[in-house]
Amino acid sequence: MDQIDAVRTPASWVVVGLDNGGTCNNATVLDATGQFLVDHLVENPSLVTDGPESAVEQLAEAFTGILALTSTPLTLVRAVGLDTPGPASADGVISSKGSTNFSQVSWHGFDIRGALQARIGLPVIYNNDANAAALYAHHRHFGADAMEKSSVAAIVGTGLGGGVVELGKVVSGAAGMAGELGHVQIPLHGVLEDDQPVPACNCGFAGDVESIASLTGIKNNLLPYWLKRFPGHPLAREPIKRGAKLLRGYGEKEDPLALAVFGQQAKAIGKLFTIAANFTDPAAYFLGGGVVEAAPHFRQWFLNTVRENTQLRAEQQAAATFALVPDLDMAGARGAAVAALEAVRPAG
Ligand SMILES: [Zn+2]
Repeated sequence: MDQIDAVRTPASWVVVGLDNGGTCNNATVLDATGQFLVDHLVENPSLVTDGPESAVEQLAEAFTGILALTSTPLTLVRAVGLDTPGPASADGVISSKGSTNFSQVSWHGFDIRGALQARIGLPVIYNNDANAAALYAHHRHFGADAMEKSSVAAIVGTGLGGGVVELGKVVSGAAGMAGELGHVQIPLHGVLEDDQPVPACNCGFAGDVESIASLTGIKNNLLPYWLKRFPGHPLAREPIKRGAKLLRGYGEKEDPLALAVFGQQAKAIGKLFTIAANFTDPAAYFLGGGVVEAAPHFRQWFLNTVRENTQLRAEQQAAATFALVPDLDMAGARGAAVAALEAVRPAG
């Protein structure tokens, strides 16, 4: 990459996007014309395990750091977009039960959006990380038409995150819990084998999308079942957690057990998208997560299998597209910035 083009300086007012993760924050700057000033990851330690005070300070440091890197004066910044892993309320209050990344008691019910806003003295607009990635995929895909289009995104990771975008904006819901696509229960006919137990999810549901289409679903449900069907498989000698992580490499080599597992995941996402087709009839279905980083032939096979298992009417087939979420490691920060830009952009 040409170093000279890696960082641009702003032509007019800007917003900043901050993606808060379990180990790192990633920061970006988006200008009023919709151009990102940074084309790569700019990270600092998130220190979320040190508690809210340290973590908010690190976010403030990510903010000043990205302004310095892009030679952006503070006076040009109109707002900051922030995303974190969920669950959190629509305005950025971490769940009262905590979560994987925010397990310390001091995080429970903590208003991370309000705390960052108070610390840096600028409006902060909050989204959860999956919603931010969905928003970025939407705006990147539709460009100038984004505010007239709708989309649904499923992001396969440790869990299954997602987002529903209507007319260019994330649907957040009354309690901030819209777009929790992982916990939508799906018809299991055609997904599970006849003798396969109904998979359970950490949320308490059985047979929801995340119980199948997530790393946790592989570890707890799919891999234990399929290893019984392939008793001599090399993964049978691995601890189940490690086996689940290694499975994608086998999928890329077209290993039959791995293809059986990922085939079930793709079918489950197809069932989810079939529900979406009848709910919001989106113009685009986006697929993100680890599979996006897999070898091209494998991720294309996965996307095709999702598409084949999404039952659309002929009119919908003509109107809708299926695509992968681009720039996945930057999608959170970029989506957070897009949300901030839309929040402060003058009407018209
Ligand atoms: Zn669930």
